[in-house]
Amino acid sequence: MLEVKLGVWGKDRIADEKGLCHAGDYYCVRCYSKDKKVKAEGFWPCIDPDIRSFPYCKGCITMLQYELMMNLGKE
Ligand SMILES: [Zn+2]
Repeated sequence: MLEVKLGVWGKDRIADEKGLCHAGDYYCVRCYSKDKKVKAEGFWPCIDPDIRSFPYCKGCITMLQYELMMNLGKE
């Protein structure tokens, strides 16, 4: 497998000419904490622009959405 060189969220700052960050330029923060280097696919959560979101891979976003739904179901 080809090792992709991506930024580490919170450490590296990769932005385009407009100063915008793209999730695809970073590793998934959740996988990275488990020593797995997976390219992120999107930011999560992105419901509210005031809430800080982090780059995650597709699998982690699905997991987080599932966990959120489980937590909401508990109330
Ligand atoms: Zn991940």
